Amino acid sequence: MNYFPAFFDLKERPVLLVGGGEAAARRLRLLQKAGARITVVAPRVGEEIGAAIAAGAIAAVRRGFVSGDVNRQAIVFAATGLPAVDERVAEAARAAGIPVNVADHAGLSSFIVPAIVERDPVVIGISTGGAAPVLASRLRETIERLLPSRLGRLADFADSFRTAVKATVPGAAARLRFWDRFFDGAVADQVLAGNDSRAREKMLTLVNGRAAADAPRGGVAIVGAGPGDPDLLTLRALRLIQRADVVIYDKLVGPGVLDLARRDAERIYVGKSRGDHSKSQDEINALVAEQAQAGRRVVRLKGGDPFIFGRGGEELDYLRARGIPVEVVPGITAALGCAAATGIPLTHRDHAQAVTFATGQGRDGEEPELDWATLARLDQTLVIYMGVGRAGRIAARLIEHGLDAATPVAVIENGTLPSQKALYGRLSGLGWLVRQSGMAGPALIVIGRVAALADAATPALESEPARAVAV
Ligand code: SAH
Repeated sequence: MNYFPAFFDLKERPVLLVGGGEAAARRLRLLQKAGARITVVAPRVGEEIGAAIAAGAIAAVRRGFVSGDVNRQAIVFAATGLPAVDERVAEAARAAGIPVNVADHAGLSSFIVPAIVERDPVVIGISTGGAAPVLASRLRETIERLLPSRLGRLADFADSFRTAVKATVPGAAARLRFWDRFFDGAVADQVLAGNDSRAREKMLTLVNGRAAADAPRGGVAIVGAGPGDPDLLTLRALRLIQRADVVIYDKLVGPGVLDLARRDAERIYVGKSRGDHSKSQDEINALVAEQAQAGRRVVRLKGGDPFIFGRGGEELDYLRARGIPVEVVPGITAALGCAAATGIPLTHRDHAQAVTFATGQGRDGEEPELDWATLARLDQTLVIYMGVGRAGRIAARLIEHGLDAATPVAVIENGTLPSQKALYGRLSGLGWLVRQSGMAGPALIVIGRVAALADAATPALESEPARAVAV
């Protein structure tokens, strides 16, 4: 994060605005909304600022800037359009330790002003850290379109009931749930539709009825976090993650996904890696149940899809057996994420009539008991999870059972993440391919003719010499 996001309270605070033209007028509009006590310093002013001065809304000093002008100001804005003057303003403010912004010049500014979506009192600031202002304004347009025009009214409405809700709904967690339901419900719809009096009536019933209701019950959502890239979450996963009181997550869940949880949500890591089981499955099950029984909304977050080599089925059984409400939200499994990210179609009319997901690791890290004869078929795609550790042996088994040693293979590490790496070769060289790459992240093996269709596969395939089976 290049800039720390914050909102200033400028009500009745002294603010200096240097400049009298259009850029300064834009700042003035915002500052007036924030209720600041504004002084403009400029030898000449344009129409808009001139009118504000004439109306007595702001103070004016009609001369060039001198460094003493920054004294006793809470915050300083320069928007003269004259680099030399802007620079002097920035220097003077810095010397006095006062936050300063120079319009269109992040380099001279100690803070920047974000693109803004306004539904007063709701304000959304968007910043790309100065990297792409056009992107920021496009985001602003997208958000503008998404947000109802009466969103500000809704915030004010909720505010007007805050005290009443506090009095009738005891406990912070229960109140959080109350408001959550409120913003999803019919009363909020009425406010957004402009029917304030109907909404008030209904709200009173809701507030009073809610107080008598039973204690809330927690629940669990077993959520697939996808292969790593947070953009690949489902909308339901996103909504549940954002509402969770506690997120219990695995090793393969990317930090980008966890960042989507509320800041005050508790995050509990229960990751397992080969050989080092920090928490046993029983302990994880018990922890998830315990959190839900304490009335919390639990998101049990798993890499990829919970039901593909994720032990989601066991956790589901455990929770159901205890009568805990539980739902399962699918995620994009690594095979689908990696396939899309490398351009490998897992099925193809000419090359693969079926696709099989298999594990390369049996119980307790032993060799998996797989039906090698069924898997060793050229007209299908075989995707192996957790298999890089014994890639050579897997290749040997398949070749033993009749699969062509020249069958194309792909190995994809950290699929869909910026650190994604993909290697391509032939089945006979699979063990070597993995060994020489020194892969350390989670990786997937794709075996089948479709592997040769990957975006980057062809040159690698052509240049690779025939290799003996490496086991
Ligand atoms: N439930 C998960 C799989 C968990 S098993 C899913 O549906 O994807 C863990 C294995 O998944 C890893 O050993 C690796 O083979 C694979 N995997 C998970 N994320 C991956 C990624 N981003 N890139 C490549 N392989 C991945």
